Amino acid sequence: MTGRLVVVGGGQAAFALVAKLRALKDARPITIVSAEATPPYQRPPLSKKYLLGEADLGRLHFRSESWYPEHEVELRLSTEVTSIDRAAKTVKLGDGSTLSYDVLALATGAAPRRLPAEIGGDLDGVYTVRDYLDADRLGTEMSEGRRALIVGGGYIGLEAAAVARGRGLEVTVIEMADRILQRVASPATATILKAIHIARGVDIREKTGLVRLIGEDGRVTGAELSDGFVLPADIVIVGIGVAPNDRLAREAGLEVANGIVVDEHARTSDPSIFAMGDCAVLPFEGNRVRLESVQNAVDQAEAAAAVIAGGTEPYAPRPWFWSDQYDVKLQIAGFCMGYDDTLVRPGQREGSVSVWYFRQGRFIAVDAVNDAKAYVVGKKLLEQGRTPERTALEDPATDLKTLTL
Ligand SMILES: Cc1cc2nc3c(=O)[nH]c(=O)nc-3n(C[C@H](O)[C@H](O)[C@H](O)COP(=O)(O)OP(=O)(O)OC[C@H]3O[C@@H](n4cnc5c(N)ncnc54)[C@H](O)[C@@H]3O)c2cc1C
Repeated sequence: MTGRLVVVGGGQAAFALVAKLRALKDARPITIVSAEATPPYQRPPLSKKYLLGEADLGRLHFRSESWYPEHEVELRLSTEVTSIDRAAKTVKLGDGSTLSYDVLALATGAAPRRLPAEIGGDLDGVYTVRDYLDADRLGTEMSEGRRALIVGGGYIGLEAAAVARGRGLEVTVIEMADRILQRVASPATATILKAIHIARGVDIREKTGLVRLIGEDGRVTGAELSDGFVLPADIVIVGIGVAPNDRLAREAGLEVANGIVVDEHARTSDPSIFAMGDCAVLPFEGNRVRLESVQNAVDQAEAAAAVIAGGTEPYAPRPWFWSDQYDVKLQIAGFCMGYDDTLVRPGQREGSVSVWYFRQGRFIAVDAVNDAKAYVVGKKLLEQGRTPERTALEDPATDLKTLTL
C-alpha cells in the first residue's frame, strides 16, 4: 500500500505502528493526530508506579518528542479527529481543517465507563484512570488517612487499591459480582489476590453494588451500598471497565460491534482503513474479541505495519498480561476465555503460586503469582501448542521446565 498514512490516536498502538513502519524502512509520509498534549506514553504505570509517585511522565514516554521529526513523523498533539470522509479520503480535525490520507489507522483506544451523574458520578472527588492527567489529579488527593472507595474489583481497581494503601489511605473495594476479577480470572486467582489485599488491610466487599454516591457542596462524601450500608469516602475511584472509542468508525459506516471490526490483517471493512489496539475487535480462536492489553496493542499494530508495508502475514494473537499489586507480580500467559477447569500449583518460593486453565482438556492460560518460572513455562507451552500432563503439573516435585520441548 502506498501513500500518506494518517494515524488517529497517539497511544501504545499508534507508536508501535509507526515505529515498526520506520524499522521496516517504510518512508511514506506519516502524521499522528493525538488528542493528548504529550507524545505517546505507557499507560500501565498510571495505576502503579506513576500513581505511587515513583515514576515521572518523562519515564513513561516511548520516545522523546524529537524522535518524531527525526523519523519524519509529523506529531500533531492536542488535536482531535472529529470525522472521517471515506469517499474523499480525508479526516476532519477539531479546528475544522482536513487532512488527506491514502491509508488510515484508527488507534483510538478505549474510554473508562463512568458512573451516571444521577447517582453522583459527576461529583468532585470521583475519578477514573485512563491518562496521565487523571493520575495526576488523583495522585494529589491520595494523602494519608483519607478514605478511598474503589468501585469495581477488576485489575485497575485492585491496582488503585494497592497504591492507595501504599500511600496510607483507608481503602474499601466494592464489587457487584459474586467475586472480584469475575470477568477476567478464575475463582482460584481471585481468592489469592483477595487474601493479599485483605492482609494489607483493604476492606473487600463482594456482591455489593453501589446505589449512589452521596455529596455535599458538589463534593463526594460517601456512598450508599446495595446492602443498605452507608460508607464515608473522601475519594472514589471507578474501575468498571472501558468502552472502545469506535464512534468515528461507526459514523463513517465501518462495521462496528462493541469495537471496530477488523480481520486478521487489522483491516476494517474499508480496505484502506486499519484499526488496532483497544478500539478493535479481532478474530481469535473462532470468536470476535477485544484484547485490552499492551501485548495486543503492540503486536496487532506491528502486524498492521507489516501489511501496510506490503506483507501478507496474518496476526495470530499470543496474549500475555501483567498486574502489579504491592510487591506481588501477577503474570498471565494465554487467554482464559471459556475455561472449564483449573489447577492450582504452589510455587517454589513462599507466596508463589500459579493457576493453570484448561478448556476441554486443552491448556489455554496460566496466571502466575510471584512465579516467573510458571509464567515462562506456561507461555512456552502455549507457543508450542502443548498441554502438560495433569499428573506432572500436580506433582510438586516436577521441574516445570521439563514440560516444554
Ligand atoms: C491505568 C491503566 C493500567 C493498565 N495496566 C495494564 C497492564 O498492567 N498490562 C497491560 O497489558 N495493559 C494495561 N493497560 C491497558 C493498556 O494500556 C492498553 O491496552 C493500551 O494502552 C492500548 O493501546 P491503544 O493504543 O489501543 O490505546 P491508548 O493507549 O488508550 O491510546 C489511544 C489514544 O487515542 C487518542 N484518541 C482517541 N480518540 C481520538 C481522536 N478522535 N482523535 C485523536 N486522538 C484520539 C487518545 O487520547 C489516546 O491518546 C492499562 C491501561 C490503563 C488505563
